[in-house]
Amino acid sequence: MSPAVSRRLKQYQIDFVEQDSFFTEQWTLYPNDKPTSVMVVFSGIWLDDGRMGMQCEVVDQSANEPDNIRSAEALLHTDVMITLYSIEGNLLYMNPAARKAAISSQHAFSDIFVNSADYENVMTAVQGNGEHRLVARAFTGVGARWYDISVKRCADAVTGNPAVLITAIDVSELKVARDKARYLADRDQLTGSYNRTYIQQHFETLTSAQSGKCALLYFDVDKFKKINDELGHEMGDIVLKQLASRARKLIRSEDLLARLGGDEFVILLHEVPSSEVLAHKVNDLQRSFGQPIRHAATHVNVTVSIGVTTFEPQETEFDTVLRNADIALYISKQGGRDQATFFNDELGAIDKERRLIETEIKRGIEENEFVLYYQPRVDLRSGKTVSVEALVRWMHPDQGLIMPDKFIPICEETGMIEDLGELVLKMGCRQALEWARNGVDIGVSINISPRQFLGNRLIDALKEFARTPDFPQRKVELEITENVLFGDHRQIAEKLQDIAELGYKIAIDDFGTGYSNLSYISRFPLNCIKIDKSFVSQLPESGPIIQLILTLAKQVGATAVAEGVETQAEYDWLFSEGCDQVQGYYFSRPVPLQDLQPSLANCRIPLS
Ligand code: C2E
Ligand code: MG
Ligand code: MG
Repeated sequence: MSPAVSRRLKQYQIDFVEQDSFFTEQWTLYPNDKPTSVMVVFSGIWLDDGRMGMQCEVVDQSANEPDNIRSAEALLHTDVMITLYSIEGNLLYMNPAARKAAISSQHAFSDIFVNSADYENVMTAVQGNGEHRLVARAFTGVGARWYDISVKRCADAVTGNPAVLITAIDVSELKVARDKARYLADRDQLTGSYNRTYIQQHFETLTSAQSGKCALLYFDVDKFKKINDELGHEMGDIVLKQLASRARKLIRSEDLLARLGGDEFVILLHEVPSSEVLAHKVNDLQRSFGQPIRHAATHVNVTVSIGVTTFEPQETEFDTVLRNADIALYISKQGGRDQATFFNDELGAIDKERRLIETEIKRGIEENEFVLYYQPRVDLRSGKTVSVEALVRWMHPDQGLIMPDKFIPICEETGMIEDLGELVLKMGCRQALEWARNGVDIGVSINISPRQFLGNRLIDALKEFARTPDFPQRKVELEITENVLFGDHRQIAEKLQDIAELGYKIAIDDFGTGYSNLSYISRFPLNCIKIDKSFVSQLPESGPIIQLILTLAKQVGATAVAEGVETQAEYDWLFSEGCDQVQGYYFSRPVPLQDLQPSLANCRIPLS
């Protein structure tokens, strides 16, 4: 007898002591050195001296070999766990693999399932079509494990009574690996919330079982870029994690939080009973987000803008729901941030119109419908035109002349300003070049929008022009608004420095309307300060402010230009206060190139 067989038989004997049972196995014996397949039934018999004896009944099955021998061997050596229970669930047989893993040698079928519902499902199937397959957690000698279990109804070969045959393999490692892979694919790694792909792919399943209305909240952190820029990305990450964890605390387990990317999150709320309940929930979230976020020695206060939309679950697609929530979020941002907006049909109509304008602008850019008007800037002492400001106009084929306030803000929001701004820059620079080549001594001011200034394309375009033969950089001035100067100081200073080094001039436009932090003025290479027309139109009350700006301009060596000069009185006042240049309807409105000639009369450099 091999040590393994000996161990097994000893184990049987121990089992017999604990329970009144027997085991049937297929064995290969070698009578007269001839392999013979036999069925051996092992059963326990108490001996008179109190010891447990083992009775082995051998049934010759040689008629069935050799397949039986092989199958019996396979059963003994396979890692697949095979167990036979009576239909009542009593244990009849375990192969060695099943025996090794079993919770005990004496258990009922129902005992192995961690989840009793699994057992019930199995038995229902067995009573029905007679078989079932499932992956379930099972109790084993080493704790709960994941099993892939196949169940088949059969008859016990010994008694002929109905029985269930269980084949099981341990898939715990596989299951853990698969769960982990799924977790990684479905989740956002930073915050642990679901990701965009998950909510997009599962939206239908997530909402299809709902009977009532659902809601989608779309929120993002106000001025998140500033937090990242000023406090570092680590703090930025902490803010996102904190907000996600606060949101999770306030939603129910059936609701869902997903991070769409960056600082944008959505919350899917199931079955919203009423708009009051929804408003309440939104309020709670906002209050929670508003609490200070602490990390190490720092703490930061953030605010969040929210867009909310409700929808009928079966009728609405994710893209539509998200867009409506996004429109509402946009309104929250427009309204000054730190607020929630609920989507309604009116907002939908406004958005539709905006998107129409957007496509129109794109078309207009492609069709070259944008042109430049020029407004002269006049030197107060000599009365001569020293430069012109290029102001863009849209010559719309149906609507005629459209002013910039109708389309510049939309271009700025959508990013189209980079295209339009580049177009304007090209037109302005080409005109400056043409004047220079024709001996017309005049400067050209070109407005640069904040987004265009912060974008990547401006410097490249400026470099390209600077390389063009005869190009008069010193005659080209870029007008940027005051607000641009309030972002990341180093980045802005570097960009201004690059522009100055290329030889272009820089003006601050609409000066006095931004958040005045005068300390930056002296730190940047600025050639010109343009006093906003609102101050000029309020003269003489605004006199002291203009005087202040004029002093400041002198201090930093910048040319002072007053915008929006419409009257002789304004002109006289500015003249007496020593302002350098003026621009306004008093001299000329912005005009198309062909109407500009009279103003240029004094700009011709006499040929020697
Ligand atoms: P801005 O750069 O401050 O331009 C001056 C605005 O004041 C122009 O309006 C001009 O027509 C107007 N203006 C000039 N003189 C007077 C006056 O005496 N009285 C009054 N009430 N207004 C006067 P416009 O052309 O409608 O442009 C408005 C704004 O649109 C500009 O303000 C500028 O911020 C922006 N803009 C215009 N063209 C461009 C462009 O090509 N690119 C960018 N990014 N912005 C532009
Ligand atoms: Mg301007
Ligand atoms: Mg201005």
